[in-house]
Amino acid sequence: MNAYQAEQLEALRMVRQLLGALSEAEAGTLKADIADYRRFRSQVAGFLDAHFKDICTEKCFSSRLSACCSKNGIITFFADVVVNALVSDDEDLDRIEWAIQNPANAFKCIFLSEGGCLWRIKPVVCEFFLCDEAENRAFGDNPEAKKQFEVFKEIKKHFTWPDKPVLFERLEEFFLSRGCRSSLMYIHFSPGLSRIRQNRNSALS
Ligand code: SF4
Repeated sequence: MNAYQAEQLEALRMVRQLLGALSEAEAGTLKADIADYRRFRSQVAGFLDAHFKDICTEKCFSSRLSACCSKNGIITFFADVVVNALVSDDEDLDRIEWAIQNPANAFKCIFLSEGGCLWRIKPVVCEFFLCDEAENRAFGDNPEAKKQFEVFKEIKKHFTWPDKPVLFERLEEFFLSRGCRSSLMYIHFSPGLSRIRQNRNSALS
């Protein structure tokens, strides 16, 4: 396993272990906290399905190109792992653990299987990545759809961008406060995002 695989596996196992040890009430609180985000992601998925499914399936997935699912190319936030674990069953997560250690394609993302992405709610970076060709074909003569996608991008920040307290930060905190620490906790440990948090906190104090 390379370093990328190792950190993905470590984060997933950490999340599974802690979620498995939570009381029903604690798990219920976490699930309630991600409910708005799940609704949002479901809206975005519906929008992308309507505008991109045919283009991406025909152009990329069927031809096995899957150009946007490149090897070790995606950033997964710790919160992505938590959200996906909360909506997945053990079999789903076992499949992901297996894939991390035994990627189906040596040149593609470790989470890409014959049937597509193994995540039930894929990492937010993946959901919002559109290649130029797909974007031009879908939005070229549909400015309203392009505008809607821009609106979704703005809404996404309310969950992920720490210039104010956001869900992705809370989920990291939940695990940090229980003794977990992961290199995928970018909101707390990446220099850029932690600076944004610090600036926000100093403006509030
Ligand atoms: S996580 Fe899923 S959607 Fe994202 S690059 Fe990997 S296979 Fe593709």
